[in-house]
Amino acid sequence: MRSIAQEHVNPPGPASLCGAKTRQGRSCTAPGLANGRCKAHGGASTGPRTAEGLLASRTARLKHGAYAQAAKLEARRVRDLLRECAETLARMHKEAE
Ligand SMILES: [Zn+2]
Repeated sequence: MRSIAQEHVNPPGPASLCGAKTRQGRSCTAPGLANGRCKAHGGASTGPRTAEGLLASRTARLKHGAYAQAAKLEARRVRDLLRECAETLARMHKEAE
């Protein structure tokens, strides 16, 4: 019995079949890709081949730090302001005594 996924595929010729051994003990009848196996039996990726693909792989998780300088400056300003507030409050409490 053909699966629903294979219904819309043109019947592949014998040379283009995947042929991997399935769990039912039969040969896989899905059409093969460039390596001869179907998309389910082709094995793990062997990684990027082109220079473009290698660059995309290398920069996908890159931490560039472009905003770090501004963020550190902002954090310093907030700390300074909070310290000034605390000092002013302490002075006011002292003067009220
Ligand atoms: Zn297959």
